[in-house]
Amino acid sequence: MSKPEIVAASNFLRPIVQADLDSGKHTKIITRFPPEPNGYLHIGHAKSICLNFGLAKEFGGECNLRFDDTNPAKEDQEYIDAIKDDLQWLGFQWAGEERYASNYFDQLYAWAVELIKAGKAYVCDLSPDEARHYRGNLTEPGKNSPFRERSVEENLDLFARMRAAEFPDGARALRAKIDMASPNMNLRDPILYRIRHAHHHQTGDKWCIYPSYDFTHGQSDAIEGITHSICTLEFEDHRPLYEWFLDNLPVPTKPRQYEFARLNLNYTITSKRRLKQLVDEGHVQGWDDPRMSTLSGYRRRGYTPGSIRTFCDMVGVNRAGGLVDIGMLEFAIREDLDASASRAMCVLRPLKVVITNYPEAQVENLELARHPKQDMGVRQLPFAREIYIDAGDFEEIPPAGFKRLIPGGEARLRGSYVIRADEAVKDAEGNIVELRCTYDENTLGKNPEGRKVKGVIHWVPAAASVECEVRLYDRLFRSPTPEKAEEGSSFLDNINPESLVVLKGCRAEPSLAQAQPEERFQFEREGYFCADIKDSKPGAPVFNRTVTLRDSWA
Ligand code: ATP
Ligand code: MG
Repeated sequence: MSKPEIVAASNFLRPIVQADLDSGKHTKIITRFPPEPNGYLHIGHAKSICLNFGLAKEFGGECNLRFDDTNPAKEDQEYIDAIKDDLQWLGFQWAGEERYASNYFDQLYAWAVELIKAGKAYVCDLSPDEARHYRGNLTEPGKNSPFRERSVEENLDLFARMRAAEFPDGARALRAKIDMASPNMNLRDPILYRIRHAHHHQTGDKWCIYPSYDFTHGQSDAIEGITHSICTLEFEDHRPLYEWFLDNLPVPTKPRQYEFARLNLNYTITSKRRLKQLVDEGHVQGWDDPRMSTLSGYRRRGYTPGSIRTFCDMVGVNRAGGLVDIGMLEFAIREDLDASASRAMCVLRPLKVVITNYPEAQVENLELARHPKQDMGVRQLPFAREIYIDAGDFEEIPPAGFKRLIPGGEARLRGSYVIRADEAVKDAEGNIVELRCTYDENTLGKNPEGRKVKGVIHWVPAAASVECEVRLYDRLFRSPTPEKAEEGSSFLDNINPESLVVLKGCRAEPSLAQAQPEERFQFEREGYFCADIKDSKPGAPVFNRTVTLRDSWA
């Protein structure tokens, strides 16, 4: 596979918007992002967000945030708050206050009454099961409901009584009178209102009937003057209905719906229902678990908002879809962090090294650049007789090509001296517990003439380093297509049991002691890490691995 590049892919909606502005059809474009507050935003939503907010920004328009809150039983204020936080974190600000479809419930109700008066809607008493039966299927036309020819008066009376809480859930529904034989199932007398005795997070107990998604969405767009109503392809078949409502109601504007392919990412779940299941059943530690494909998960893992926006640009916008390689997202974050993250050293599996020829009381203060290319200042690193290196950097019986410490061999300590391994001290079981080395005082920052030292290893001073916890995160799923579980198994069977490895007793260089939550680093030779937003405290840091230095799955 060739190395990916950061190149913005095409977006088929851009020329459409441009043409609408050029022709004067619109003078200002207004888009919207319409999440249902029934879960946290995930990486798929990021694509829709970057698209809607991105077009508005590019063409000097506006983008609304509108909660699509027609299903109170599944919605929650927690999700509303999280969605707003995540949007702002991603770098977008909606126009004015956030909006709610429920702001328009009075208007929608009034429009439903108009449809009844015009003979275009009726109250239907079929049970949900009966209604399904009457609806037919893709090969057979539906049959008219026996309630379809009710009089306008009776419909008005029943609809008012539905609203007045006279009937239980599911007893009746208001339906549009369109065409039970239409080849488009969405036009077979779709439901406009359902009875649902549920408390609503915005409207409280004002309503016990709630409008359907289809009856709400287009009219909400029209009320807000949305010019381009952009949604994913599964709504393509709803477009005739979207337009039927706009044509049959006195709406103030006529938005146009466009569809694009949703983002599918390998090794990743992008369904709120399944993400919720992971949380509810305790497979992960919450919506913001760093293994989750939620924006709050990526944030906690250490992803930058810029890397996610870059990724969305690289994916582009089209109608064809396909499965995007997660390597593209990992590439975007590596590129960003390589340029911006401060370098530091942290020893994940410490092995004590005593430098026997280094004076016992001596400490040298070394200065190391925070970044090899950018001017980000320096960090202080004391060098002393006792240090830690990673246990994996010494091998008694080295595999072929091993360039680090071996008995009698030399390696360079990053930013410091060359040391030679003289003796491995072992415990009763034969485990190496300490390495005794000697250093060459002529090698600070340079290789003396004719001396080749290939291996460079990271280290920290024993006394001055700070103990820390390091959480190594990996992909949550082993399968590239976790949502497509085999017959008889579930996506849960695909969870990678090594998606989280917690290392305690790691040793970080002194400058890391005061790491601020969410501060990001490249730990030399180990990868990119981020101080945990919740658990990391100055003096007792906790680091999450964002991504390895290179793709280890290829
Ligand atoms: P889910 O299937 O995860 O529940 P949803 O479509 O029901 O997603 P909404 O809250 O209704 O979730 O989504 C808000 C917006 O985000 C919609 O316009 C939807 O089309 C878009 N969206 C959701 N998932 C994706 C995705 N994977 N790729 C692109 N856009 C998406
Ligand atoms: Mg939805």
